[in-house]
Amino acid sequence: MSDTLPFQAEVQQLLELVVHSLYSDREIFLRELVSNASDALDRARFSALQRNDLREADGEPAITLTVDKDKGTITVSDNGIGLTREQAIEHLGTIARSGTKAFAQMLKERGASAEGLIGQFGVGFYASFMVAHRVQVQSLSAEPDAEPVYWESDGKGTFAVDTGTRTTRGTDVVLHLKAEAVEYLDEDRLREVISRHSDFVQYGVFLNDERINQSTALWARNPQEVAEEDYKEFYKHISSDYQDPLAWTHFRSEAPLEFSALLFFPQKRPFDLDQPDVKRGLRLYQRRVLVLEHAEAFLPRYLRFARGVVDAPEVSLNVSRELLQNTPVINAIRKQIVKRILRRLKEIGREDPATYRTFWDNFGATLKEGVAEDTDNKDALTPLLRFRTTETTDEEPWRDLAAIKGNLKEGQDAIWYITGQDLERMKASPQLERFRKKGWEVILLSDPVDEWVVMNLTEFDGTPLKSVARGDLDAGAEEDPIADEARKQAEPFATWLGGLLAGSVASVRPSKRLTDSPAVLVDSDWGVSANLERILRAARQEGPKAQRILEVNPEHALVKKLVSLHAEGKTDAAEPLARLLLDYAKIAEGQVDDAAGFSKRLSTLMEKAGQGL
Ligand code: ADP
Repeated sequence: MSDTLPFQAEVQQLLELVVHSLYSDREIFLRELVSNASDALDRARFSALQRNDLREADGEPAITLTVDKDKGTITVSDNGIGLTREQAIEHLGTIARSGTKAFAQMLKERGASAEGLIGQFGVGFYASFMVAHRVQVQSLSAEPDAEPVYWESDGKGTFAVDTGTRTTRGTDVVLHLKAEAVEYLDEDRLREVISRHSDFVQYGVFLNDERINQSTALWARNPQEVAEEDYKEFYKHISSDYQDPLAWTHFRSEAPLEFSALLFFPQKRPFDLDQPDVKRGLRLYQRRVLVLEHAEAFLPRYLRFARGVVDAPEVSLNVSRELLQNTPVINAIRKQIVKRILRRLKEIGREDPATYRTFWDNFGATLKEGVAEDTDNKDALTPLLRFRTTETTDEEPWRDLAAIKGNLKEGQDAIWYITGQDLERMKASPQLERFRKKGWEVILLSDPVDEWVVMNLTEFDGTPLKSVARGDLDAGAEEDPIADEARKQAEPFATWLGGLLAGSVASVRPSKRLTDSPAVLVDSDWGVSANLERILRAARQEGPKAQRILEVNPEHALVKKLVSLHAEGKTDAAEPLARLLLDYAKIAEGQVDDAAGFSKRLSTLMEKAGQGL
């Protein structure tokens, strides 16, 4: 039964990329195939724990490399779980991983030169086409009633499937090497590649009946004895990342619980980090035997960027071996893992600011979720936070709270922040006028998660954190009897305008925070901020509405004029101009929701201005 089928569109794009790039690094095709073989052996072992009707393996679990110099082929074989015809079509014709769509989109945007992109995504089996012009697969599934399947492709758009010839369970992947890749027919070269990339694979890798990998469980070794290169290779083996890890932490705990862990931080933020359906978690081993590929219970969500392994002999698995409950043992291990990760990050921040900066650029927004989620570790998290402020620059883009506190000016009794969508707009906000005049540093928060961060981070080292947009601020307003008097005189006007704008704002009051602008919108002391309301709306979540207050600047010429018009009872003349104050404040925030009304009011104003010319 022979069929020719097209590859999924994303695979076709991926193959183009694979075939045309990454030549410097193409030896990793072998790591990918050996990893797949090792996974297939793992899966066979899992399945055998749950059912006893599976086809038996022929001999011990093993991965075998065979070279045929005459034919110009190398074959990677395993006696693992194998593939059924349907599985061959699905797994070797599509990319099952979620996030494929996003990946394809990025491919389109960046074009076919994007090597780093492959690094981020990992190409697995398709890496074969970096060295082979033709790939054949013979497989027999461990499923008792499965038939052998044959799969073949030249990587150019389609693949063929047919009935296969394998008689024992497992898979052979045969690579017909391209002329420029014949170096892999050399056995010494293969040995070198295996020992560089796959030395720690848990099953034997054999070449001519000789075992060529050592299967050392890296995490079980003494950290002092593990070379940096080994860590890097191991990371690539367990992640689908082609790049070196940014950093790692390797530790062992004896009491109260015995476990060891080896955890890595990637260099780059995976593009699917925030997708909820992507499987994450650590690889769970029990005495060096893999029992679960994605054990999610060992990491809180906000540390989901960490990759690695935990070897915990005392964790008991439930029957399905899929679900791991939050047992006391797991919780205790997770707690220690979290502590170690946070400690390691602190160390990096102190000893290697450039590396920490890379970390923060990529994962800062994720780590910040911890401030809201993990109150137990708030003290460990706070020093890890970095912020942009009104004083950070391209050279020094982030500051920690200690530095910001160190920069408090005379009379400044709080660390101030502003939240919003856009850094430039925040910097220019009228809300910062008085701060700018005084030279006070203000933290600029533009990640959605920041709203939750500031709800939970109300002080740092005894100094309160306050929003510049909240409450009746009198930050650094000097004792100034003239200004006080102006505010007092503006009160009746403000109350009147509050009545006019009743549906739009909660109230109107004379401002203490403005120096130049006529008006500004601020948040009330309580309730959600306007920024949070915007974020919830963008996430299509129903939330409470922000209560906004319009502040008018009693020292601004226009406001002064309006105050006196109002005092003289000329409210008709004052009204259109007074309404413009709200328009002004909204535009300063980058939003006008009543564009028609606004242009009408503006045209009235222009007419008036024209008459005065
Ligand atoms: P990944 O390994 O990241 O899932 P691959 O493209 O390398 O992606 O492989 C796709 C799928 O093909 C695997 O998930 C597995 O289901 C199947 N597969 C690949 N190689 C083998 C093998 N040697 N034995 C059984 N299944 C395999």
